[in-house]
Amino acid sequence: MAIRYELIKECKQTGARLGRLHTPHGIIETPIFMPVGTQATVKAMTPEELKDMQAQIILSNTYHLYLRPGHELVKEAGGLHKFMNWDRPILTDSGGFQVFSLGDLRKITEEGVEFQSHIDGSKHFLSPEKVMEIENALGADIIMAFDECAPYPADKAYVKNSLERTTRWAVRCKEAHKNTENQALFGIVQGGMYQDLREQSARELVALDFPGYSIGGLSVGEPKELMYEVLDYTTPLLPKDKPRYLMGVGSPDALIEGAIRGVDMFDCVLPTRIARNGTAMTSIGKVVIKNAKYTRDFTPLDPNCDCYCCKNYTRAYLRHLYKADEILSSRLMSTHNLHFLINLMKQVREAIMNDRLLDFRNEFFANYYGETQL
Ligand SMILES: [Zn+2]
Repeated sequence: MAIRYELIKECKQTGARLGRLHTPHGIIETPIFMPVGTQATVKAMTPEELKDMQAQIILSNTYHLYLRPGHELVKEAGGLHKFMNWDRPILTDSGGFQVFSLGDLRKITEEGVEFQSHIDGSKHFLSPEKVMEIENALGADIIMAFDECAPYPADKAYVKNSLERTTRWAVRCKEAHKNTENQALFGIVQGGMYQDLREQSARELVALDFPGYSIGGLSVGEPKELMYEVLDYTTPLLPKDKPRYLMGVGSPDALIEGAIRGVDMFDCVLPTRIARNGTAMTSIGKVVIKNAKYTRDFTPLDPNCDCYCCKNYTRAYLRHLYKADEILSSRLMSTHNLHFLINLMKQVREAIMNDRLLDFRNEFFANYYGETQL
């Protein structure tokens, strides 16, 4: 087995899980936030900087690396870890989310999905077998089965059909996965916002005995309360001795609420994307750095943060960099936002350890919602 999940304890206040995930490239402490490096790079950050902010695992995207530079080139380079100079754990998604988001540019059959590249319009075909070939070539520690992420809203018949195909594809992925010693394949629970369909999906996938389970099809435009409701009934369906990964979720409130509902792993492009647009997540809410009120604000971006950005620079300087369209703006804002979420999860783990995650949530929200919600 490529990975082993160790449940250390459950928070007495909430049932949130504190754990360790043992992988071929090291141990991950959970619950964890995973920075996203779509194109084999976490935008604007070097691996050394990611290590300085204590990133334990990063995520990369199969769809993007398959199209450019190509999985065979990455394999020739010695695999993704060597290619991008990152020696800690990596997780790759299946490309399903991106392919299904292409709309008119793709055609779904039982065999797989035919689509046109968003880069040059060239035609491609992804099947469960092809996705396993690509993910095996990339060589991440944790890999995802090829799934269909149903849109929101979607009618029940569509979601049922889609989740049943996702299960059949999960079986094919399991059969095609060639590197079970070094790469753990996760099944992805779908079923939209329908409780009986989530139950069906979880039951079918748990029967296939994957080393870990993802919860897909959330954070696709539904209200957050609905996502929490789906999590409330979905996580209890998953085995206690396997890691649970909630895909595409990265706002501070959703990380805390997800951990409370028994999720171990999260990823999202949100912190780096909004950083490049000049927005910071801070302990006292959202800061939009271009706002005029920061022109002469010589205090740190977040008064309660000890990241490289907050220790050395002021809001006035960051605003100047952003207005002048300087590259350093993206770098410093990304440094802060990533550090903020990584540090938030460290605090969540400490709160679970001390059986006070509910108290921590209430304290965090009291400060955070002082300004605008992200
Ligand atoms: Zn900071």
